[in-house]
Amino acid sequence: MKYTLDTIPVLDAYKTGCECPLCQLRIACEDSYVDSMLGAAYMEPDCRVRTNEVGFCTRHFQLMYDRRNRLGLALMTHTHMQEVISSVEAILKADTPARGGLLASLRGSRDEGGTPQKIRARMSGCVICEQMEGAVNRYAYTIAQLYGTNSEFKAMFDASKGFCLPHLALVLEMAEKTLSGEALRTFRAAVSAVELPNLKRIEGELEWFTLKFDYRNTDKPWGNSRDAVERAINKLMGACVGEDAQMPPHND
Ligand SMILES: [Zn+2]
Ligand SMILES: [Zn+2]
Repeated sequence: MKYTLDTIPVLDAYKTGCECPLCQLRIACEDSYVDSMLGAAYMEPDCRVRTNEVGFCTRHFQLMYDRRNRLGLALMTHTHMQEVISSVEAILKADTPARGGLLASLRGSRDEGGTPQKIRARMSGCVICEQMEGAVNRYAYTIAQLYGTNSEFKAMFDASKGFCLPHLALVLEMAEKTLSGEALRTFRAAVSAVELPNLKRIEGELEWFTLKFDYRNTDKPWGNSRDAVERAINKLMGACVGEDAQMPPHND
């Protein structure tokens, strides 16, 4: 797969000094995809075709529902539903009992291509998740490429707080795919140098959060620990709780 550099948003995300620049970029593009899905993007024939076919996950249906553009959401859901109905009709009409029936299922054998699996598979996609994955992969690629070629970025990266663990894995994977030799070794060392101290810093901040509940520590300062629970969870799993996981406010 070929990627293109997306330098400006990456530099901007690093300038904020956040706990994971890729989480920040992910939330920003999620916000704009949810918005555009209810407006401009859906008017494009290619997007309509893909949306009707693939649909959305529960999170992205929820986020679109929260934007209150009910007519846009209704139109999109209607044409998607028409396609789903014709797929489900075909699946149900082709229905044959699972091989071996009850006896085989008691023995633990499963027919992977059965009707329930086909229905689940039909409903498993999400257009917004697909778009976000593409964008975040592009940003991870940009980070891996810029480190060895852009001194301004290198300085920001070396002073950064690393990544959440899912994005740590993604960045290393992208580096393995697109760098080699000395460039790969240098980048890997730079990633470890920012990641480990920052994981341990948050672990320490979380520990202080728990110790603050001890009456002997009541009068001692919180330091950076007030939001340590959110930051620890977000560092482990990718931004999912607290302020760092919030979408920008909307007036729609
Ligand atoms: Zn992240
Ligand atoms: Zn989704």
